[in-house]
Amino acid sequence: MSEFTNPNLEVSISAEEIQKRIAELGADIARDYAGKNPLMIGVLKGACTFLSDLMRAADIQLGVEFMAISSYGAEMRTSGEVRILKDLDVAIEGRHILVVEDIVDTGLTLSYLLANLKSRGAASVKLAALLDKHERREKDVPIDYLGFKIPDKFVVGYGLDFAERYRNLPYIAVVKDPNMT
Ligand code: 5GP
Repeated sequence: MSEFTNPNLEVSISAEEIQKRIAELGADIARDYAGKNPLMIGVLKGACTFLSDLMRAADIQLGVEFMAISSYGAEMRTSGEVRILKDLDVAIEGRHILVVEDIVDTGLTLSYLLANLKSRGAASVKLAALLDKHERREKDVPIDYLGFKIPDKFVVGYGLDFAERYRNLPYIAVVKDPNMT
């Protein structure tokens, strides 16, 4: 059975809309970081799809690294607990850092991560996020490059999962009935 046309999914942002917005964000990043050789840091696993499209939309010299931090498990809630599961392989002193994240929800994860990276002596630390669930914010996190503001609904696709499923959808969707497969 097709996963992409699963009737239990309601498309909220189409693949075309995502790609159009990423082209704009990539142009903004290329303009702002020209000659600065920024380091894009993708937060695994959710941001991998956004990062791979965003870096190809930014026509400048740049580097790419990955980090993994704890967030949601198989359940639809945040624990507030932040742990670094995979750290950077390189020092970032003096580098211009652009953290690339799938979604900012409560902001707890990102506020911790941004402060952590700043404390390592980066020249600058900015944030690119595909989605902003602003209604749920508990910690203020400035998003320098934002894809879309979305309402407070649990979304999947384009890297985002529900119990490790749906990351491969080319669009963002809401799961209508989480108990249905
Ligand atoms: P925060 O610390 O901002 O509350 O949580 C951010 C992380 O929670 C995101 O990186 C993502 O992994 C997860 N998350 C928040 N909202 C959603 C959602 O609607 N769908 C999915 N799949 N993950 C979410």
